[in-house]
Formats: sequence, C-alpha cells, structure tokens
Amino acid sequence: MLQVKNLTFSYNKTPVLKDVSFAVKPGEHLSIIGESGSGKSTLLKVLYGEYDTLKGSVFWKNEAILGPEHNLVIGYDFMKYVAQEFDLMPFISVEENIGKFLSRFYPEEKQKRVAELMKVVELTNVAKTKVKLLSGGQKQRVALARALAKEPEIILLDEPFSHIDNFKKQSLRRSVFKYLKKNNIACIVATHDKEDVLGFADKMIVLNNHKIAVHDTPENLYKNPKTALTASFFGEFNVINNAIVYAHQLQVVDKSNLKATVIKSYFKGNYYLVEAGLEDKTVLFESPKPLPIDSNVYLKTSK
Ligand code: ADP
Ligand code: MG
Repeated sequence: MLQVKNLTFSYNKTPVLKDVSFAVKPGEHLSIIGESGSGKSTLLKVLYGEYDTLKGSVFWKNEAILGPEHNLVIGYDFMKYVAQEFDLMPFISVEENIGKFLSRFYPEEKQKRVAELMKVVELTNVAKTKVKLLSGGQKQRVALARALAKEPEIILLDEPFSHIDNFKKQSLRRSVFKYLKKNNIACIVATHDKEDVLGFADKMIVLNNHKIAVHDTPENLYKNPKTALTASFFGEFNVINNAIVYAHQLQVVDKSNLKATVIKSYFKGNYYLVEAGLEDKTVLFESPKPLPIDSNVYLKTSK
C-alpha cells in the first residue's frame, strides 16, 4: 500500500537517509528503531512531505506521492502524522482540539466520534479542560486523538508515548495500538522504547549509519539479533565466543569453563541482574537472588 523506494535525503551535504526501501501493508504496524540521531524523525517527516530535496520515490496504492518530479502537498487525508513536538491550540478545550477538523460531520456524529477518541487516549476526564493547562503527556494524547479523528489509512507516530508517565503508558499503548488494528489503520512508529515494539509491531526496521540495517519481525530479530546494536535494543547481552547471549540465557551451574567473579547484583523486580568479571571482561546474567560480592560462579549459555 505504502511503498518507499530508494529514498535518500540530506539536510545539507551528508545524507541522513541513504537508499531506504520498504513497504507497509494495510493495517500493518511497522516500528522504526535506531539510536538518537539515526534519522527516525527525518524519515517520518520526509514521508509526510515536509521536505522536497530527496531522491527516490514513495508510492501510495501504486500512485507516486513523493519523488523528484512531484509537487509536495503536506497533509493528505489518508495519512496523518504526530510529531515529536506536537502543536495544539492552547486556548480551546481537549474535545474542541480533537474535533477541530471534523467540520463535515453532523454535530451528534462529531460528538460521538470525539467521545470515542477521548476514551482511546484516556482523556475523557479532562474533556472540557483548556489544552494549555495540561501536562506534556496529556497534550501528546490530544495530538494523537486529533490525528486519528478523520480515520486516516496510515498514521506516522514519532515517539508517541515519550512524554507519558509510566503509570499510564502501558494501558494507553494497548488502547491505542488495539484501536489502530481494529480499524485497520497502518502505522509507522519511530521509537527507541522496546515496549512500543514487542507485542505490537508486525515488522521492525533498525536504522544504523543512515541505512536500514535489518528489517524483519520483532520475533526473528529478537531470536537472531545478528548485531550488537539490535541486541542492545532488546536488553542486556554479552558477546561470548563471538555469539550474542542475552543476560537471561546465561546460567549459573556447578562447573563449567566460564568462571566469573561477582561484582554487583541489581534488583530488577522478579530477578537480579548480576554483573561479574570474566577474565578481562564483564558479563551480565540473571539470578533469582543477589550473589555475594567477590564470590566465584560458573556460567553456561543456554540458547
Ligand atoms: P532521530 O529522530 O533518530 O533521533 P533525526 O531524524 O531527528 O534523528 O536526526 C537525524 C540527523 O539529522 C541528526 O544528525 C540530526 O542532527 C540531523 N537533523 C535533524 N533535523 C535537522 C534539520 N532540520 N537540519 C539539519 N540537520 C538536522
Ligand atoms: Mg526523533
């Protein structure tokens, strides 16, 4: 449905995106991950048509929407974009902001739609509050609801939950992503938070060095991260005999040829993360209880 072909883009001389190609199907959830500065926001902005100095092309249902020979129109009906820095109308209420672009709806229909969206982003209790009085996280949710108001076919979300506190984040994420799936709205989500990806994304792309490093399902990449960059996105890991071993894949056994000395145990909730010295390196593994400092343990990888 959305097809990106050989997209190359630079703000000045050095490209920020080099030869990026991928496709998104109807209702598909694609995550774009990468370190800060890797070009995630730039990619979304380019797709939305904010820049015109690009090479390559973008097709929407077989029609070219971006490319050197196309005039750019920002803001299609089928595509909505929620920026990292959202821009709302501060002096009107939450419900007025969300309903702002629903003028073609009948009043009752509009009211119903706005109420439904406020429920999705969990803002019903502040419906009548002026946006300028809201917290950053609440504003982010208003921006999200407003972008969803006209039922786009694809939505571009830039770190959509970054301003939202941990108390709300989990349930809000489920609510929003469930809503998108139910309504068959495709999404491209730029994030550096694995919680935005696991359990939700159908596919993920890792951006590195201005290029797509890998593009696969989260499950395949988790099981076979190939590079340290991808593994680091999923959690703590070690490189042992040139293989990537997650901390939970390293176990304490009675005897092995991996002898380590405990440095510190970190409480992590249902386990402790133990840091230990192994020859001239440190390794990380999980343990059900904290281990005494300077004690020796034998480790075995279980993959
Ligand atoms: P991310 O969202 O992954 O953190 P960005 O897309 O914001 O990364 O930035 C990618 C690179 O482009 C960075 O090196 C950043 O400094 C640069 N950049 C971003 N916006 C601009 C801009 N408006 N002008 C020039 N350089 C920019
Ligand atoms: Mg960004």
